[in-house]
Amino acid sequence: MQCFFCQRNIAEIDFKETEIIKNFVSLSGKIKSKKKTGLCSSHQRKIAKAIKRARQLGLLA
Ligand SMILES: [Zn+2]
Repeated sequence: MQCFFCQRNIAEIDFKETEIIKNFVSLSGKIKSKKKTGLCSSHQRKIAKAIKRARQLGLLA
């Protein structure tokens, strides 16, 4: 099964794409687990990185 980003052929996740990124953050503000996101390991790592980056820059609460 392909993950959200593999399906869309997105290799790198842009931290500026907050509309996409915020789908992978839980209501309590945590990064959703791989089980919940359904992402592959590679993209799970990338989304975690993008979320952290977006937070640092204040793009994400
Ligand atoms: Zn993937």
